Amino acid sequence: RNLRKHYISPKRWLRPARPAIQAVDGVSFSVARGETLSLVGESGCGKTTTAKSVMRLVEPTSGSVQLEGEELLTLSANEMRLRRRQLQIIFQDPYASLNPRLTASDIVAEPMRNFSNFGTGTAAERRERVQWLFSRVGLRPEAAKKFPHEFSGGQRQRLGIARALALNPKLIVCDEPVSALDVSVQAQVVNLLMDLQAEFGIAYLFVAHDLAVVRHISHRVAVMYLGHIVEIADRDTLFSAPRHPYTEILLSAVPVPNPRTPARRMLLQGDPPSPANPPSGCRFHTRCPMAQAVCKEQVPELTERPSSSNGGHWVACHFR
Ligand code: SF4
Repeated sequence: RNLRKHYISPKRWLRPARPAIQAVDGVSFSVARGETLSLVGESGCGKTTTAKSVMRLVEPTSGSVQLEGEELLTLSANEMRLRRRQLQIIFQDPYASLNPRLTASDIVAEPMRNFSNFGTGTAAERRERVQWLFSRVGLRPEAAKKFPHEFSGGQRQRLGIARALALNPKLIVCDEPVSALDVSVQAQVVNLLMDLQAEFGIAYLFVAHDLAVVRHISHRVAVMYLGHIVEIADRDTLFSAPRHPYTEILLSAVPVPNPRTPARRMLLQGDPPSPANPPSGCRFHTRCPMAQAVCKEQVPELTERPSSSNGGHWVACHFR
């Protein structure tokens, strides 16, 4: 709720007038058990910072993060470490996120070893669970003895998923988990994530910029622009009837499979403004084709609009 992350440049101590970078500025959303909420938006809009703030891998400046009603931001580092059993992350680059000195079985067993005082079983039981996790993510038993460099990109990401599953988490933050993979492998990994969700009821906070992947995996989608959420709706509503001008422009950039389908391509003018000095009022007004005088002065609140969207259709625009 109302999550903020403002980065202060180290040089600000030398030049105090230098403004903080408002990477995330007042973001609110919820993710239900067994649900996938995707965060989309162009580079630098704050989606990864939001996802990492939820896990406190980045310490939020203010706001509230609750897991099943328990506030996480006031927990001590030790208490937070224990809660991380329930919050796991799959990183964008599977190679960089795996320890090259550990075998695949050690990588998957490591979280269980770290929590061995909290009912993760004996060494033999952990070995058995590693083998079971390997089978769940489609890795062969003989892969256990291999090192990360001996796997393909897709297999490495399967290993990252097995590691994230090791402690039976309630929420997995997926930080662009397929963007570093070949397209053919992307589909396999996305389908694997969906199967695992159906089997274990895990919630995903899915950060992505590939809208085809987002459309396939999401239940609901939140669109971010310059540190704000500008629209949230269920997937079908958002893709078929977007309301915010930024969402419309973003979706119009998706290629259509049939070249004869009339496509209304809308172009985004200019570059995104700096998050260190965001525009007044609606942050999108400098690029919005519908902007009026009021947009420069008043910040549009994210408010619910009449819609059949599951979970509501929320839009931050004065005119939509
Ligand atoms: Fe565009 Fe104004 Fe709506 Fe912002 S509030 S999206 S500038 S019309």
